[in-house]
Amino acid sequence: MERVVNFSAGPSALPLEVLERAQSELINTRTSGMSIMEMSHRSKIFEGILQEAKTRLRSLMNIPDSYQILFLQGGASLQFSMIPLNLLQKDHQAAYIMTGSWSKKAYDEAKKVGQATIVASSEDDKFRSVPDLSSLKLPENTAYLHITGNNTIEGTRISSLPNIGDIPIINDLSSSILSEEIDVSSYGVIYAGAQKNLGPSGVTIVIIREDLIGHAPKSTPTMLNYETHSKADSLYNTPPTFGIYMINLVLEWIESLGGVKEMEKRNRHKAGLLYDAIDQSNLFKSPVNKADRSLMNIPFTTGNDELDKAFVKFAADRELLELKGHRSVGGMRASIYNAMPVQGVQRLVDAMNEFEKTHA
Ligand code: PMP
Repeated sequence: MERVVNFSAGPSALPLEVLERAQSELINTRTSGMSIMEMSHRSKIFEGILQEAKTRLRSLMNIPDSYQILFLQGGASLQFSMIPLNLLQKDHQAAYIMTGSWSKKAYDEAKKVGQATIVASSEDDKFRSVPDLSSLKLPENTAYLHITGNNTIEGTRISSLPNIGDIPIINDLSSSILSEEIDVSSYGVIYAGAQKNLGPSGVTIVIIREDLIGHAPKSTPTMLNYETHSKADSLYNTPPTFGIYMINLVLEWIESLGGVKEMEKRNRHKAGLLYDAIDQSNLFKSPVNKADRSLMNIPFTTGNDELDKAFVKFAADRELLELKGHRSVGGMRASIYNAMPVQGVQRLVDAMNEFEKTHA
């Protein structure tokens, strides 16, 4: 069977080369005579793979030595709790920028742990934009500022950071990690679920500045304390070994193409193709404020539910799948992460033009 063009928001398409490589090694990984899934996490081979993945990520993202890379479980959603459990001290408050459903969930979890405040929000604009953060002022007792760098559902991104001095910025990059160059040293913590730009679901990457580790209260459950995973080099308990193996292959694939700089170039080109098609169309519209448009998740609509449905079916008939928008936003959404080839986006643009000719 031919592979389809998969616009899923996550878990999402993986590079075909990576899947083929995993297939070829599946029953005998690195001449061990066993699959990576059957191998002890304390084995030399697995420990080697874990170190390779860390070294590759450090080099691809230019992660300074003063940051640790952790491979955790529980999804980005568990980070919504681990962040305040580890970083929100008594008598301090956590500041949240509200830019969509995921930042709302992060904020709701922080409130369960301590004092959390919304310091900027685009909810009044139905999250079709992100707030201007240029003059953001935070109270002195702010433990950290949490942002959602790319809003998977709403299709927006935060492109410039506020100047808040020494207060660490925590960035949920679940849907845009490795898609464009960023300066890791601007952040206290970066976290991302793997299932969009990194590999299969089940692994969460946490990049954390070392001085932020070791401040959780003694009552913090062992598994929820960053210090546990930092001290054990992500091997405190059995990690998601197959997921980490796949991440290593994806990172190798990114390296082979020229790194994050090249990914960004490709992603800007792909997103440009689709936004141009939307902007030039008399039928399709983007609900998102132009300056805040995501490079990864692109919602669009005809403004008519029946026509939207008809387009999703029209596209599916052409093997362009998973284009139905999130239930909270409606319309369509094309998620075009690193693994989406430019030809996939071009096929979508062609289908939009063809549909418009017969339905406008
Ligand atoms: N944050 C963002 C920005 C997301 O897109 C998602 C998942 N789509 C999550 C958090 C939650 O991730 P997980 O399902 O890994 O818990």
